[in-house]
Amino acid sequence: MTTYISSSLGYPRIGEDREWKKALESYWRNEITEEELKTETKRLRLANLKKQQELNIDLIPVGDFSFYDHVLDTAFSFGVIPNRFQHLDDQSIDTYFAVARGNKEAVAAEMTKWFNTNYHYIVPELNDIKPRLVENRALSYYKEAKEELGINGKPVLVGPVTFVKLSKGYEQSQFESIVESFLPLYVQVLQELADAGADWIQIDEPVLGTNLSESEIALLQYVYQKLAAEVPNAKIILQTYFETVQQYDRVIQLPVAAIGLDFVHGNHLEAIQKWGFPKDKILAAGIINGRNVWRSDLDSKLALINEIQSIIEAETIIIQPSCSLLHVPVTKKTESQIDRVILDGLSFADEKLVEIDTLVQGANKGKSVIENELNESKNARETLAASPYRQNRQVAEELAQIGHDEVKRALAFADRIKIQQEELKLPLLPTTTIGSLPQTSEVKGTRTKWRKGEINDQEYQNFIESETKKWIEIQEELEIDVLVHGEFERTDMVEFFGEKLDGFAVTEFGWVQSYGSRCVKPPLIVGDVSWAGPMTVKEIVYAQSLTDKHVKGMLTGPVTILNWSFVHEELPRFTIQDQIGLALEKEVLALETAGVNIIQVDEPALREGLPLDRLKWPAYFDAATRSFRISTASVKPSTQIHTHMCYSEFSEIFEVIDALDADVISIETSRSHGELIDTFEVNDYDKEIGLGVYDIHSPRVPSVEEIKANIDRALRTIDVKQFWINPDCGLKTRGKEETVAALRNMIEAAKQVREEV
Ligand code: GLN
Ligand code: ZN
Repeated sequence: MTTYISSSLGYPRIGEDREWKKALESYWRNEITEEELKTETKRLRLANLKKQQELNIDLIPVGDFSFYDHVLDTAFSFGVIPNRFQHLDDQSIDTYFAVARGNKEAVAAEMTKWFNTNYHYIVPELNDIKPRLVENRALSYYKEAKEELGINGKPVLVGPVTFVKLSKGYEQSQFESIVESFLPLYVQVLQELADAGADWIQIDEPVLGTNLSESEIALLQYVYQKLAAEVPNAKIILQTYFETVQQYDRVIQLPVAAIGLDFVHGNHLEAIQKWGFPKDKILAAGIINGRNVWRSDLDSKLALINEIQSIIEAETIIIQPSCSLLHVPVTKKTESQIDRVILDGLSFADEKLVEIDTLVQGANKGKSVIENELNESKNARETLAASPYRQNRQVAEELAQIGHDEVKRALAFADRIKIQQEELKLPLLPTTTIGSLPQTSEVKGTRTKWRKGEINDQEYQNFIESETKKWIEIQEELEIDVLVHGEFERTDMVEFFGEKLDGFAVTEFGWVQSYGSRCVKPPLIVGDVSWAGPMTVKEIVYAQSLTDKHVKGMLTGPVTILNWSFVHEELPRFTIQDQIGLALEKEVLALETAGVNIIQVDEPALREGLPLDRLKWPAYFDAATRSFRISTASVKPSTQIHTHMCYSEFSEIFEVIDALDADVISIETSRSHGELIDTFEVNDYDKEIGLGVYDIHSPRVPSVEEIKANIDRALRTIDVKQFWINPDCGLKTRGKEETVAALRNMIEAAKQVREEV
């Protein structure tokens, strides 16, 4: 007989009403004290634990809570603080926030995507730091859960190999010795947790889903042997997620008590069929998708569990979500506006835990005890599948017409850029911004009033226009060359399009953490996607009517819209991506017809969507290139297509950047501290490019000298005729004053450089 128990790998931090975000931001604005911040977040943390207890979860994670990011927490517990912050008190929460957000003296640490998700972690800087155990945070949270709620929680740690792999500030040749230097600290953390009574300890090693080298596998063996030998009484769950474990047969031999495998995004059924699963270990099976919001087909999930059981015949199997629920919204119970057919098909974090519990009940006591739940889940899925959302014949036909032909612009870059130069008459080193301008509390507040019906459509539109006008004037006064309308009408670059395209639905409260306190509300893709009419033309035409300078049209690209939406599992992703491409093509042409001659199609999510397994990259690249080109290739040669991407490690995707065939690309660089520039040196890139010249993720105003140094550095590699000057990313999270000051310095720096070249 197999006994099944339930587990959760991590729970959303933000709270049902984003209380966490609100508390953090109030603290940053000095509206509440540190004491008040800690009281409020503790209340929230305990409420989250209690909820999981009430939802019948056997292994409740502790230590998954964070004041910003769990990788940053790990760094702080080990005294890993960037050198430029070393003089500050390493126990102070303000130092912690300074590393994450930057302060007056020093730039923030780099931030980058957590594997292939839209969650961003803070990159630890190891530069010659001798790690030491500053604080066993997991232990404090473990004790708190036990004392306050009587929960014997499952502490969650970022594993040593993943931690060092995600860090920077060392040479590849030092990798092993650095991992080794952390081991005594992990030993101590584990020992203290085991001594305090922790039954299970989850160590996350998501790097196991990436293509590891032989020496990295050997290192993992060494690390886990060492931990097992030094702390034999710690029961470790070695947790993996997001992909098939690459060296399955060797990983399952690691000396740990349990191994967590993702059966949703990884092909682990095949793995256990082929290689089996060791009798002396417990399998923690990730059964419910932790990366999307759709209700599971419980019948097939139960069948999967039974199949796993029949292969491994274990005494105990842990049933859990495929990964931390950090990546999904908290609960669907607050949604009241969305179509019933869709609502019934949804499952957010809390509902997923109910699904886990249901499956555990069914697996332990027999299918009949969960008969109702099985029927409900089946009906919900079938009703959605039969709904009009899934019956859009026309889009299918339009796509079929493109067939498999290569989609490309009429003229090659070298020819069309000449036409564009004549038409656009831009100066050397043209200046621009990435699109959004500050979404002040006034902008957000007015939108909320409009949503609540407190002001009417006309009043809202007047407000958006007045804001646009104000900023067109500011941009003119600053002497920026290519202006933007500011995106004031948009909450979010993907949600905005989700509200306007057919095939999408949006939630009211479906927030997920993106970085720090910043949350996004990904739209849902329910069925076939199509264009329902102009989405952005009115605002851009209005902005253009106010100035003689060029105003860029601003769209979000197909890859990003797809990656930042919750796509229903039954839909073919690449087909949907092409459908989005088609819809955007219509928008692009509508903009062109309205006289817009520079159009930016943002693809910040292109990099993060890369599969963890490199073998899957070519297919991903081809699909991305094709969808992007479907949306952009049919413009006139004189229309200049821009694109924008965020974050580092572009060497990996250089080829696809080139293949997109955009005339101008702007890329985030400051936060990767210039490492990107080399990429463009080794590959000679002929199109135009703007490498962000200052970091917008921090409220700090960069000086003229600093910006100029960034430009000079880029120009050592990139031809001055190809270069654009712009900030790193959109400015919507910034305040007005700091934005104007920073842009003023940027323009001044541009002027100085123009004089020197
Ligand atoms: N145009 C968008 C903006 O400025 C781009 C945002 C992004 O790259 N994430 O907000
Ligand atoms: Zn960006």
